[in-house]
Formats: sequence, C-alpha cells, structure tokens
Amino acid sequence: MQKKIFIKTFGCQMNEYDSNRIYDSVKRLGFIKSKDQGNVDCYVINTCHIRDKAKEKVYHEIGRVKKLYKEKNKPIMIVAGCVAQAENQEMLNREPYIDIVLGPQSYHKINDLIKNFIKNNKIEETEFDALLKFNYFDNIENNNNNVSSYLTIQEGCDKFCSFCVVPYTRGPEYSRPFSKIISEAENLIINGVKEIILLGQNVNAYSYKDKLKEYRISDLINKLNSYSELKRIRYTTSHPRDMTDDLIECYSANEKLMPFVHLPIQSGSNKILKLMNRKHTVEQYLEIYEKIKKINPLIEFSSDFIISYPGETEDDFNETLNLIKKIKFINSFSFIFSPRPGTKAANLKLIDKEISKEKLLKIQECLFKFQLDMNKSFINKSTDVLVENKMEGQKKLFGRNKYMNSVIFDGDENYIGKNINIKIKDVNQNSLFGKIEKKNMRAA
Ligand code: SAM
Ligand code: SF4
Repeated sequence: MQKKIFIKTFGCQMNEYDSNRIYDSVKRLGFIKSKDQGNVDCYVINTCHIRDKAKEKVYHEIGRVKKLYKEKNKPIMIVAGCVAQAENQEMLNREPYIDIVLGPQSYHKINDLIKNFIKNNKIEETEFDALLKFNYFDNIENNNNNVSSYLTIQEGCDKFCSFCVVPYTRGPEYSRPFSKIISEAENLIINGVKEIILLGQNVNAYSYKDKLKEYRISDLINKLNSYSELKRIRYTTSHPRDMTDDLIECYSANEKLMPFVHLPIQSGSNKILKLMNRKHTVEQYLEIYEKIKKINPLIEFSSDFIISYPGETEDDFNETLNLIKKIKFINSFSFIFSPRPGTKAANLKLIDKEISKEKLLKIQECLFKFQLDMNKSFINKSTDVLVENKMEGQKKLFGRNKYMNSVIFDGDENYIGKNINIKIKDVNQNSLFGKIEKKNMRAA
C-alpha cells in the first residue's frame, strides 16, 4: 500500500520551494502527497522563525495533529525549517510527540531518516551542509508543473542585519552551480512551467565561480530569457547592496523579466539603517530606483519595512513615510520589529507596543493607498495576464499581471498557461476583476 505524507508550510517562498522538493524526494520511498492532514504516515511541519510567536505556532500545530490522531496510529512527526534549526534538541525535550527535528540544510537526509525510522528513537539533524543538500537534490527531478514555479539559486546570508535570524538559521551564503540551475529550469519548462521565480534569501548576491567565469544572477536571467516556451522571469528577495549594474541592465535587454522589483529598504532613515547594519543608505537606494526607472519608467517597486526598530524616533518614522510617498511602492510588507534570540538586536529596549501598533497602522494606510491607486489605474484598461489556475470551488480563473496583481475572471480552463488580455472592470486592494478581451477568445 502506498504511504502518505502531508507537509504544512509556514513562512516564505523558500519554504514553499523546500516543501515541494521534500515531496519530490520522499516520492522515491513510495510516499504520495496527501491533502488529508488527518490520515497520513508522515507529517512534516516546515517552520519559519523570522518573527515572534514562531515557536508557539509550531507547538500549536502539533497540538492540532495530536487531536487528529487521537484514535489512530501516530504519523512520523518531523519538524523542519528555521525553527527546527534554531531550537534543535530543545524541541525534542519539550514535545515528545516530535520524532525528528530537521534543519533546512539537512533535507538531503530525509529519505534515510524516514527509511530507518525506529519508534521512540528521537533524531536531531541541524548541520549546515548546503553543498551536500543541493548535490543530493540535483539528482532528484523537480516535479513541479504549475504554471509558475520557484527555483532556489542561492541560500543563506552573510550580511547579518542586526534584527535578522536568517544567517543563523540558513547559514552562510551558498550559490548553486550555474549549470545545475539551468538544467533544473529546463526540466521545469519541459514540465510546462511558464514563469520561473528565482529564489534566495539574498537572491541578487548569487555568485558562482568556475574556472572560466563568475556567474551572476544577470547571467541566469539572460540565459532564461532565451527559452521560447518560458514567458516570465522574476526574482526575490534582493538586497540593495547587490543591485549591481549588470542586473539593472537586464531590465533593458530581457523582455521576459517582469517590470516589478521587490527591493526591501526596511526604513527611510539613514540613522536606523545604520543601526540595523543594513550596509546601504536611503540615497543609494534612490540611486538604484532612478537607474531602473530611467531604463523603463513603467517599472514599479515594492519593499519590506520594519517599524519601531529600537531607537526609531518620530522623525525617523516620518522619513520612512516620506520615502513611501516619494516612491509610491505598489505592494509592500510592513512589520513591527520583533526581537529574535541570538541576533544583535535581541536585547535592545523596545518601543511601546501601543505606539508601535499606531505607527504600523499609519504606515499601512499609506502603503495600501498607493496599492489601491495602482489597482484603480487598471480600470477600463487591458492588462496582460498569465493564467495560473482555476480557483478552488469556483468557476473563475486566476492569473497575475506583470506587476504580480491577482486577476480574477470567467473563462475556460484551456486558457491556463496562456498569456491573455483581461479588460479590468473592478478592483479592490488585493485583486483586479475583469473580462477576457474578445480578441483572445480565438486563442483558447
Ligand atoms: N534578505 C532580504 C533583505 O535583506 O531585504 C529580506 C529577507 S527577510 C527573510 C524578510 C523580511 O522579514 C525582511 O525584509 C524584514 O522586513 C522582515 N524581518 C526580518 N527580521 C525581522 C524582525 N526581527 N522583526 C520584524 N521583521 C523582520
Ligand atoms: Fe536577513 Fe536579508 Fe539582512 Fe540577510 S540581508 S540578514 S536575510 S534581512
């Protein structure tokens, strides 16, 4: 009988990619992916440690699993991801229901761990083995056949922003060999993937050297642009320090590179950027912005913001608001600073919770206004959509335009995987709603 596995994924796109690769790996052991959480042989929680309550979320989820399996045989319970890395043995001590704790750089061991699993023999694997991990996964086909697929090219971080846990949970920067990334991309394209989103904690720090050359993310983009069946290229998350001219140039030379740049700045105050150890200034950020806008004024930006970083005054906060008004980011993430154990900022004096909440509301009000303005600008206009799927439980189709806006419309499933023009009739903050333009009808 086939064995079943379920993976609950928290956090970033990289975790989503990892979960899919874990499915690809355990398929070799005869496991199939199950949608039914309450009836599997192996249950994996892929965790995120970036902000507070990360640990609590994991123990809460385990509590839910325990209830689901009260009357049944317990599944092999694996906690993977960044919380596993950060908490390691501590998790096994606190929660006996967990069988295996598996850090993000040890996923190549998962098949052996499951195959050799012995009841009550608790295991913790949290070494930093990025090279071994990617070598292992290079030999396992990426089965993803969604219209849009992630592809990890780089992992880890050497930048050590004082608030961030990533260098401690994902380890030092590691860039995969150029040829391995391209062969994974080719495989995805053969599977029918039409959009590739290159991933990394610092995706634009990608640097792979062989005897002949240093390969950068720009080389990957230029190469991907040449595949006729591939329609769109994106990358995330990039750091301003690594936004080099060769990458900026890609916006003039590669029509498949989408005109939407997610480039986190975190704060509009140079004083705070310095305290955060961000290694860039607001002026340097604006310089990148101007260079890219000069190539194509239709390119839009989004960012991440941290509010109430220790030491942030009203003036610093207003500088962030002013920057948002200047750039008019179309879609951004904003968070209240959350002290992470082990980081430089872990023990700094926190800004009052109520004040922080007020500030967050204010910043989000401003960000959401620009987001809605951008969405409204599409009304009664046509927008180019890559159709991704049929919405669950509905007749509608879902796709994204070039700026990553969600677009929802009626249509035939034959449109999935195609680029079509949608005339936008209505919008809200998160989505655009429209109709297929008549000229597309013949394309289906
Ligand atoms: N590497 C990217 C960069 O440098 O911009 C960011 C990657 S990080 C995984 C994603 C986002 O989480 C960050 O941009 C930051 O806004 C947020 N973040 C990270 N640590 C945080 C913390 N301790 N408190 C609040 N937000 C945090
Ligand atoms: Fe974290 Fe990004 Fe800073 Fe690295 S560059 S420490 S991933 S915020």
